[in-house]
Amino acid sequence: MLGRMTLTIPADLLPADGRFGCGPSKVRAEQIEALAAVGSSLLGTSHRQAPVKNLVASVREHLGDLFRLPDGYEIVLGNGGSTAFWDAAAFGLIERRSQHLTFGEFGSKFAKAAKAPWLEAPDVREAAAGSRTAAEAVEGVDVYAWPHNETSTGVSAPVARVNGDEGALTVIDATSAAGGIDFDVTEADVYYFAPQKNLGSDGGLWFAAMSPAAIERVERIAASDRYIPEFLSLSQAVANSRLQQTLNTPALTTLHLLDSQLSWILGNGGLEWAAARTAESSGALYEWAEASEVATPFVADPAHRSPVVATIDFDESIDAAAIAKTLRANGIVDTEPYRKLGRNQLRVATFVSIDPDDVRQLIRSIEYVLANS
Ligand SMILES: *Cc1c(COP(=O)(O)O)cnc(C)c1O
Repeated sequence: MLGRMTLTIPADLLPADGRFGCGPSKVRAEQIEALAAVGSSLLGTSHRQAPVKNLVASVREHLGDLFRLPDGYEIVLGNGGSTAFWDAAAFGLIERRSQHLTFGEFGSKFAKAAKAPWLEAPDVREAAAGSRTAAEAVEGVDVYAWPHNETSTGVSAPVARVNGDEGALTVIDATSAAGGIDFDVTEADVYYFAPQKNLGSDGGLWFAAMSPAAIERVERIAASDRYIPEFLSLSQAVANSRLQQTLNTPALTTLHLLDSQLSWILGNGGLEWAAARTAESSGALYEWAEASEVATPFVADPAHRSPVVATIDFDESIDAAAIAKTLRANGIVDTEPYRKLGRNQLRVATFVSIDPDDVRQLIRSIEYVLANS
């Protein structure tokens, strides 16, 4: 007997690029070409010499332009991605106590890192996956933290300063939002991210736009008698970043892919353009799901729906995992839901690199699979 054949989606329904994953995410062909073109004048050369230092300077300047940084804000970078930043923040940014909004995996991970023995127990405000909660000013809290975009559920939350105790900092995880959602950076003291999502680069580094108040906090804690491992020292990161350096060797490819992505976004009109493009892509998916007999947007409140990560639930007559599997066999990859969410769902990144026309083709491909399986 023949095994069940995998459904072949007709070529005219397929997207030109089948990468819809939430990270690492689509890297545009032009970025890879630019990397190949720079080749041996950058790759394999010392990060203490001009070619790499100039690249770091360019990335910092481009990020400053993208976020329209006011005077006094600085772009700081270090090794280890956003996960390393959580530990660095527990050592060097939270003075005594933090408040965390958790409505998915990533917000919860920072809350966990803040349960460090030298800090007071964090004030954790949890909301069910698919919804969100708001910050509340509490006496004694000196860091308010939440994700701009919760990648595990497809919920986004506004960046808005919390007016708590004097000097309290608003600290935003922008890992999947940076470069795809417009916002006002003056509403945050720290806007941090790794570049393998909207910024279409590779993993391994973290970046943070820091306000003067955040830098002052970092310096004050570093000068106290708290033990801080050097690798996780934010004051080391601030000092090194000012010299266009990192404490230890950075990934040069990551820096280069990031820099060309930033030039591309800025050349097209910056965050406003990027936000319109991601809203067009995600809007097409939400509209389709709203109209579908078998699909619904997982995030019930339209105001909470992410413009950069669309999560689409299917009713029980449909096996979403089987759809993702068929799509994968046809070259459309990484539409599976976040592994720990455990829902009958597809999750689609609509990051700025992803062409809205490809999202519309993805919808046609999903419809074909639904109609033919
Ligand atoms: C992906 C992601 C992270 C983790 O980033 P790493 O660079 O892998 O540590 C953290 N926060 C959010 C919101 C993310 O989407």
